Amino acid sequence: MRRIENIDAHSLSIDQFAGLRNQGLPEKTKITTTVKMLYEKALALFREMATPKAVVAEVSLEEFMDIYRGEGANDVPSVVEIIAPKARAVVLFALTSGQEVSNEIKRLLDEKDVALAYMLDIVASEGTEKAAEELTQRCVELCKKTGKFFDGDAVLRYSPGYCGWHVSGQKKLLSFLHANEIGITLTESFLMSPEKSISGAMIAGERKIHFFKNNFAFCKSCTHKSCRIRIRDLEGKNARD
Ligand code: SF4
Repeated sequence: MRRIENIDAHSLSIDQFAGLRNQGLPEKTKITTTVKMLYEKALALFREMATPKAVVAEVSLEEFMDIYRGEGANDVPSVVEIIAPKARAVVLFALTSGQEVSNEIKRLLDEKDVALAYMLDIVASEGTEKAAEELTQRCVELCKKTGKFFDGDAVLRYSPGYCGWHVSGQKKLLSFLHANEIGITLTESFLMSPEKSISGAMIAGERKIHFFKNNFAFCKSCTHKSCRIRIRDLEGKNARD
């Protein structure tokens, strides 16, 4: 069933400076007082202006595979088409932190406050990711209630634009979810607006279904290999259970 989820931006535990680290700042680099103050200011702006909201819908495997095929541009084989058939549940989602944050970033740039604009951009990306984590946790709770999540299971998110799911897949996914009702639209190049938005499928099942070798043709050009981190997390204590 399709539903809207609201998330309180103040409830999100956004790690101090995690955004900076994710931008490649080495762990040992000392963060100056000026940068700390800028970060705090950006964090306050995000909490004041962000209105994280998502539309979610659990779908059958057949429905999902039809949506997943999208515009017919996915790589074959791809990660999701191998994992999804082994899932206990597939929940589609589209989440946005709202337009106001993007407007503020633009306003700061127009006023040449580049440092704060840059910092707000980093914090908003991190905050949106935290909102997606909260949504994933809600998906776990829902799957538990409906008997589709057991000890040792995990829910992971997969998104168009990654790991063989072509970015044009956004079109069918967002159309199915009626994501425009929460303000998400697509550009001609299938990018979401507002910019601080995430969409995809939350796939629930035995933890091992999310383990795979990264030897797909498209992996050759992947610079981040983030699947290895996710799999390592699943193997360790950070797994969702
Ligand atoms: S190596 Fe990169 S492209 Fe390949 S599965 Fe992992 S994250 Fe996806």
